Amino acid sequence: MYDIVVAGAGSAGCVAAYTAAKRGFKVCLIDAKPKEKIGNKICGNALAYHHLEKINLPIPEKVKTNEIEGIIIYSPSGHKWEVHTKRHKGIMLDRLAFGQYLLKTAIENGVELRDKSVINGPIIKNGFVRGVATISGKIYGDVVIDATGLKSPVRSNLPKNLGIETEIEDKDVNFAYREIRKVKNRLGNEKFCEIYLEPSKFPGGYVWIFPQGKRIVNVGLGVQKVKGYPHPKERLYSTMLKMELFNGSKAIEKGGMDVSTRRPLPSLVGNGILIVGEAGSFVDPVTGGGNGQAMVTGKLAANVACNALENGKKDRESLWTYNLALYKQEDGYGQKYTVLDAFRIFLQSITPKDIDYGMQHEIIKERDLITLTTQGELKLNIREGVERFFRGIGRLSLLKNLVYLKSVMEEIRNHCLNYPESPDGFDEWKKKIDAMFLELEKRFVPYSSK
Ligand SMILES: Cc1cc2nc3c(=O)[nH]c(=O)nc-3n(C[C@H](O)[C@H](O)[C@H](O)COP(=O)(O)OP(=O)(O)OC[C@H]3O[C@@H](n4cnc5c(N)ncnc54)[C@H](O)[C@@H]3O)c2cc1C
Repeated sequence: MYDIVVAGAGSAGCVAAYTAAKRGFKVCLIDAKPKEKIGNKICGNALAYHHLEKINLPIPEKVKTNEIEGIIIYSPSGHKWEVHTKRHKGIMLDRLAFGQYLLKTAIENGVELRDKSVINGPIIKNGFVRGVATISGKIYGDVVIDATGLKSPVRSNLPKNLGIETEIEDKDVNFAYREIRKVKNRLGNEKFCEIYLEPSKFPGGYVWIFPQGKRIVNVGLGVQKVKGYPHPKERLYSTMLKMELFNGSKAIEKGGMDVSTRRPLPSLVGNGILIVGEAGSFVDPVTGGGNGQAMVTGKLAANVACNALENGKKDRESLWTYNLALYKQEDGYGQKYTVLDAFRIFLQSITPKDIDYGMQHEIIKERDLITLTTQGELKLNIREGVERFFRGIGRLSLLKNLVYLKSVMEEIRNHCLNYPESPDGFDEWKKKIDAMFLELEKRFVPYSSK
């Protein structure tokens, strides 16, 4: 019997387990992978520093491959936006070395690892989650922290009356394929990540080319999983991998995987359980980045669980402070990514021409992109005469949609900041946020399904 059972030893699980063990709790960390493979995740490997500042864990040099100072975004017609991220620098990770470092830190602080243990689902007794069932037996704990990622066998098998959403719909997922490639010639700029937007080729997603050193790149494509979506591997090979950069290049690693692109679950706690990382959809819906969010939510949830256990509690109400920290605080990841999800739904609906016009005429300025992705605030650069101009070029609806979107994003933020103080007001709160998103989805239909 453990105080805390952490299901899944990805970034979220390792940080959650480490945080609880450091506070003196008896923690079991379970993963399906063998110990030496933990951390080996198919990923773009980019991580922004601002997440690391929140978990206050030193990151050793050996897990970084290089530092990133900005992003270049290409519009469908090749228009280029260069976004310098001076205040929000990033790093590229050696993903396995990073995962192994997090795991080692957890174990050194007293976490007991059970590797090669496939979890089938939660153990429920008297309306409480009491542990997890694995292929080799049951593991009990006072509280379970679910960190098993998007396809979570824990979350998806929870009974409905626990108050946690269990399903993630395909339309809210990107299927992403990525390769790490050794290229023949030195990269032009190793300090910039590149993103290519072209909805007619890369529907509901984008291609990324991230440098991992002088001659190594992490290249991939994610596409929204709506009817008729192309296989991202085939699409990557028939488009971007034909670039001169890849002539004579060799793949070192290959693989595809789903990534959540939806807003975080509206409630992340139930009796005896908290959900962290991608299991709770803590992924930036616009970029698909979720590694930093996984660690931050892992730490937060572990601290809430430890506080509750110190008071002899583990019920939904006692764990509710986790929801409050995520939704009610200005920089809470629940609130921020719920707001950004509205922008994602809009972005997946617009045409290649709309993207070109938007970028060319700087409706959103390059520097305001950082505010959008870090704070979820949409600043529109609408000067006098813009309306006339947009009417003239027949894109008035784009402008109107953006103005509408901005006001909805503000409304969503306010609704999140009004998150109920206790489970009592939750059903009412959820009804309203669900209705707001239903309305958005009616107005902004994915471009590829039109
Ligand atoms: C192609 C791709 C590119 C990405 N690029 C980036 C990027 O550049 N930057 C970024 O920040 N994010 C990126 N992401 C997202 C990021 O990788 C995830 O959001 C993040 O790793 C989530 O961490 P996690 O710990 O919540 O879950 P995971 O990393 O998914 O970890 C879950 C753990 O649970 C274990 N597990 C799952 N099921 C079971 C089971 N049944 N039994 C036992 N154990 C189980 C798994 O083995 C795994 O160790 C990308 C994702 C993809 C797919």
